[in-house]
Order: sequence, then structure tokens, then C-alpha cells
Amino acid sequence: MKTANKTVTATKLVKDALEKAKHFEEYNIFTFINEEGALKKAAEIDEKIAKGEKVGKLAGVPYALKDNYLSPEGETTASAHILEGFTSPITATCVEKLEAEGAIMIGRTNLDAFAHGSSTENSYYGPTLNAYDKERVAGGSSGGSAVAVALDIVEFATGSDTGGSIRQPASFNGVYGLKPTYGAVSRYGVVAMASSTDCMGFFTKTPEDMDLLMSIATGQDPKDMTSLPDFYEKSEVKKVKKIGVIKDFDNDSVNIEIRDALKKKTEDLKKKGYEIVELDMPTLKYALAAYYIIVPAEVASNLSRHDGVRYGFRSENSKNLESLYENTRDEGFMPENKRRIMIGNFVLSSGFYDAYFLKAAKARTLIVKEYEDAFNKCDFILTPVSPNYAFKLGEKVNDPIAMYLEDLMSVSLNLAGVPGLAVPVGKTKSGLPIGLQLVGPRRSDKALIEFAKELK
Ligand code: GLN
Repeated sequence: MKTANKTVTATKLVKDALEKAKHFEEYNIFTFINEEGALKKAAEIDEKIAKGEKVGKLAGVPYALKDNYLSPEGETTASAHILEGFTSPITATCVEKLEAEGAIMIGRTNLDAFAHGSSTENSYYGPTLNAYDKERVAGGSSGGSAVAVALDIVEFATGSDTGGSIRQPASFNGVYGLKPTYGAVSRYGVVAMASSTDCMGFFTKTPEDMDLLMSIATGQDPKDMTSLPDFYEKSEVKKVKKIGVIKDFDNDSVNIEIRDALKKKTEDLKKKGYEIVELDMPTLKYALAAYYIIVPAEVASNLSRHDGVRYGFRSENSKNLESLYENTRDEGFMPENKRRIMIGNFVLSSGFYDAYFLKAAKARTLIVKEYEDAFNKCDFILTPVSPNYAFKLGEKVNDPIAMYLEDLMSVSLNLAGVPGLAVPVGKTKSGLPIGLQLVGPRRSDKALIEFAKELK
């Protein structure tokens, strides 16, 4: 990562990034460009450097912020109409940590509204275009962040991953994307989607950059009760010997070019002396169903705070308090947000709780156990990130089930709380990026990033 120094100033780095952001405007990456704020911060860092004062590990490094991270710089909209006009009084812990080291946010990036989606087509601001093919989706929900890094506008970008939203767009755009162990990076100050599966992480161009960012962003935060005591730097990077592959994912529902890429990588690893272990993980086929019950349940609870009184947009056509709530929510949420609120309230309702939510919670426990068993047999698992590479814009957006199926291989990690790193491994015949996913036991994030270098 290029940091500022006496010859290459922070102002130059920021100006270059802002210029590139403008150059790639048609990709619809940003919901806000932080020109004034970024240049002011850059000038402050340059002054420190000129005076010979100490600067941070990310001094003058331009980055992009997914627009569901709160900070007073620009409106935080989560790409949803209902949050338009909302400027946050607080700053997310992750943002505070990055900026304390001198990183400079040059813009907020587009996402599926409230991070509900796998293509960034559910954004109120329209879709972000894929970095390799403008007729294809960026992936989602962190599509803007992935493309900002892929087009080399910024050195890194933040993302949030509730069921794949960092790993899938990373693989669709040929960059690294890490969903850390649940609780490794504080969730404080990020618009909540599903509190028990939300993970904050990054998009980078190299594993080395990912390691640097994780060493800065991890650690216990008194403002997030589920954040873990610092383990990242202390965790031992043990010798990796056995890599697991999941039998159940090798079937026709996964694109053949992706399966071939996986086979090629496992063969390479075998030649390098690693043992490949075939894993039977039959419970994973229930992960998607469990996820699409548990997550909407938490979504419905978390989105109930948006009532037109406290944040952002308020419908003007209301006669009384009840119609104010109704109209604001009707006009402010996107169709996918509403679908999840409906499903969530249904699965939590007294008549159906046992049949749906409780069953899904039990399946989740089995999935946790299945991963624990798997990591008794191997050190890491290598799988596809998703069944397909970047698909065409409009291809799945009107078919929610087809869109949900895109999350087949990513959601089980969030249910189990284990880390996953999307690694770019090659291209399809038509030149689109293919990513594979490295999965490790909880708290193995550092070793996972280190091992990614073996896949280069
Ligand atoms: N695509 C998944 C969903 O729509 C994951 C989203 C996310 O990780 N934020 O739920």
C-alpha cells in the first residue's frame, strides 16, 4: 500500500484517487464524494510530514467506505431512500481506527439497500457496474466497494458481510475480500442488518494489505458487546498441512469453469505437498434455508426503528402518526427490504415461531458443529465463493429465489461465525474473474490471509 511521504504527498494521493473516481463515474460506484473533507485531511497529514512529526501506518492512503458505515462525513444512507438526508452524529469504531492511522475516506460506496442482495441492483441509486464488463453486476451487497478497488481508484475499501456481501463481489471483480471471524472487527456504528451474522471486513489488492488492515481494525470494543478480545496479532500461524474440499459442492448447480478452477488449485496444492481431504458436510444444504429465516427475523427487528420520526426521510402525505409510519416505510424501503420485513415477522409470529425460527436455530447449531468436525480433519477448506461468476444486469433481480441461490456457498460461514477469504484465482474463457473461498476455524484469520499467498 502506498503511503504518503515527503515526495509523494497525501494531497497527491487523494487528488489522484478523486480524479479516478470522476473518470469512472459511469460505473455508479459512489453515493458521495468526499472531496473537501479528504483534501483537508490530506493537507493536515502533509503538514505533519513536513514538520517531521510521526504519522500513522495508513498515512494519506485513500479509501472507500461502504455507505452503511456511520460517520459525520456525508450522509449515511445505506443506499436506501428512507435514510436520505441522514447525517450521523457518531463514527463507526472501524472508521475511527482506520483514520487514526491516517487513512482518508474519498467517498461512500453504493450497496443493495440495507445490504439486502447479491448484485447491488437493489440500491435506491441504481446498480453499480462490474469492473470487467459493464453489462454485468458488481455482485453484492458491497458492489461499490469491490469495484472501487478493482478499478484501482482506492487502495482498499470497507465492506460488511452478513451472508457473502464481501466475498461474492470480491470474486466477481478479481480482488481479495475478507469476512473475518464474527466479532473480530467491531460492528459499532454500522447500520445493522442481522446482528448475529454481520461482520465488518475489507477489500484489498493483496493479502499483505489485508493483514495490515486487520492488525489495525481488530480488537475488543466496549461499544460492541459481541466484539472479541484482541486475538489477531497474537494468533499463532501454524503450519498448514491439510486442505479440505466439500464433496457436496461438486455438482451441476455450480458453474463448470468455477469447478475446474477449484480442481486446478487443489491439484497445484497437492503438488506443493499439501494433503487434500474430501469432506462430507451434509448439513450445509440446509444453510441457505436457515439463513433466509434467521436473517429476515433479525432484519425485521433491526429495521423497525425506521419510522420517519428519527432518521432521514419522512413521508409528507400523512394525516396522523400511524399513517406517518406506514407511508414513510412504504415509500422509503425497497421491495427487497419489505420482503424481508414480511418474512421476518412471519417466522417470528407466535403461530409459526416453532416451525420456522426455532427449527432454523437448531439447524444453525448443527452447522456450527459440522464446521467444528471438519476442522478436526483439515486445517482450511477451499470452496467456490458462489455458484456463478458475475451474471448479467437484470438477469436475476426479479427472481428472488434465483438471487438467494447465489448465496449457497457463502451463508454457512456467517451462521457458524467462521472466517472466509475470497481469493482471485483466474479468469473464465470470456475474461471474467473467478474467486475461490478459503475457510478457517474461528480466530484463524491471520493464518488464512497468510495461506492465501500459496494460491497465487
Ligand atoms: N446476499 C446475502 C443476502 O442478501 C448477503 C448479504 C450480505 O452479506 N449483506 O442476504
